[in-house]
Amino acid sequence: MLASNQRQRVVDLCVDLSQRGFLAGTGGNVALRIDAELIAVTPSAIDYLSMTAADVCVVRLSDLEKVDGQRDPSVETGLHAQLLRQRPEVNCSIHTHQPIASACTLLGKPLHVTEAKARQRLGRRVPMIGYMPSGTGLLAGMVKRAIRSDSNAYLMRNHGVLCCGDSIESAIEAVETLESQALAWLRKGMSTHAHNHPEQADTLQRVRAVLGGIS
Ligand SMILES: [Zn+2]
Repeated sequence: MLASNQRQRVVDLCVDLSQRGFLAGTGGNVALRIDAELIAVTPSAIDYLSMTAADVCVVRLSDLEKVDGQRDPSVETGLHAQLLRQRPEVNCSIHTHQPIASACTLLGKPLHVTEAKARQRLGRRVPMIGYMPSGTGLLAGMVKRAIRSDSNAYLMRNHGVLCCGDSIESAIEAVETLESQALAWLRKGMSTHAHNHPEQADTLQRVRAVLGGIS
């Protein structure tokens, strides 16, 4: 089997992300650079907890032609390819519908990263990519225009997120860091807008039970 090691690493990555709630059901997908020409990509519509290395597709980066794999590549392969073509130092790209950061995509604004450590991982600003339907060339084109060399995380309007890193581990860290920064952003917004309105106390209490830490 071609690139069996990298394909197994994609399986392990997806199991890890699924077990921690970043990949829910078949939502989300990942790509891992194999070499200068090839990438390993998750297949379309599969339960990541039952996926095997043979299910993971090997795709040519230049034209998205499938070279090996038992299934069809993810419909978002083009989106990952845009990122991996433009950022040669990036080796792993992760698209998720992770709950908190995905909720923030409804706000339609970029996320300004405030913590120094998080800035090192994500960049100073997480851009907001405009909405286009999933799995389309239109969305991949929108991503292409948004890619920046100093940003390792992107919000995709009304959809989910795209994170990347020079290794699997650093891409996972970007996913985790983005989720915690998104939570801080939501808490701050709730505190700013809700604390002067006593009639919202019940609602705020319920939100606090979910998000925690809102003063
Ligand atoms: Zn998606």
